[in-house]
Amino acid sequence: MRLIFLGPPGSGKGTQAKLLCQRAGLTHIATGDILREAVRQGTPLGLQARGYMDQGQYVPDDLVNAIIAERLSAPDRPEKFVMDGYPRTLAQAQSLDELLHRLDLPLDAVLLLQVSDDEILSRLRGRRVQEQRSDDTEETVRARLKLYHETLPEVIEFYRRKGLLRELSGQGDVETIHRAIRCILGLGGGPCSGA
Ligand code: AMP
Repeated sequence: MRLIFLGPPGSGKGTQAKLLCQRAGLTHIATGDILREAVRQGTPLGLQARGYMDQGQYVPDDLVNAIIAERLSAPDRPEKFVMDGYPRTLAQAQSLDELLHRLDLPLDAVLLLQVSDDEILSRLRGRRVQEQRSDDTEETVRARLKLYHETLPEVIEFYRRKGLLRELSGQGDVETIHRAIRCILGLGGGPCSGA
């Protein structure tokens, strides 16, 4: 199964993507994690990305597209995966589309986790304290949310037109949302109520 998880920062898509990967044997591919690791190690990619990340801005499309192309073209490339935090712009979605077409790895579904801005702001205040992420300050969170609302509609529309988009509420406890996701994907685990 090959999936994309879309949703605002703090929507829980990372948590849900990881949980589904653990339980369904899929590989988790998160550009945010790859970029944070590059920053931590001080690699050329990290040095290029850091300034954008600290300000809550997107890293340029070319850089993230190259990260994904490299990850999916490596000899040990995953064939079943969940992408989390990518694509975030129409240009990224188009680049991924071409790449997956070339590699003959079609997507099964694109899941959109819906969470209100007020809920996001209160969750990220909590995450800043817990995880000490330098890009979770009030100012950068607001910048990231603004950017999300500016760029995501085109991405959502792109996948809606392909008939791949599935939407669900990201509000509720982790296990309930996980069950709703399994249900949407036809992976079993109980009735589809509330999905
Ligand atoms: P995330 O952990 O997905 O919230 O990503 C953290 C930060 O990494 C974002 O605020 C961006 O600065 C950068 N980033 C991650 N994924 C992307 C992407 N697909 N396009 C551009 N920037 C990204």
